[in-house]
Amino acid sequence: MIIRCPHCDKKNRVLAERFDDAPTCGHCGRPLLEGAPVALDDENFAAVLGASRRPVVVDFWAAWCGPCKMFAPVFEQAAARHPELLFAKVDTDANPGVSAQFAIRSIPTLALFRNGQLAKRASGALAPAQFEHWLRSP
Ligand SMILES: [Zn+2]
Repeated sequence: MIIRCPHCDKKNRVLAERFDDAPTCGHCGRPLLEGAPVALDDENFAAVLGASRRPVVVDFWAAWCGPCKMFAPVFEQAAARHPELLFAKVDTDANPGVSAQFAIRSIPTLALFRNGQLAKRASGALAPAQFEHWLRSP
């Protein structure tokens, strides 16, 4: 699958069987899937969910959405704190397929997937403590 580096935005090819081996960017050398949210799209979403052994936390957002902008740093800081989770963002305007699949009607919407299956979701820009609580609750 093709993964865009969250640091330098260059495209990297990642094999599904190597997905959990902490792949690094072939261009800038930084971790592709740790420490910062990775952008997913209609093309790679299902493959990433299928390949990740870590639970995947997804922020469904759009560029025009004010609350999404407010929430973005909260999400980034949580990504830096929780290496046991994979943090991902889906631009709902650019990726209508995934957005329709999960019936995203308001943004931001947060969703947590375990073993490729939707485990829970929440709507709205959560405050840092709320988001932390949501991440830790079952
Ligand atoms: Zn890079």
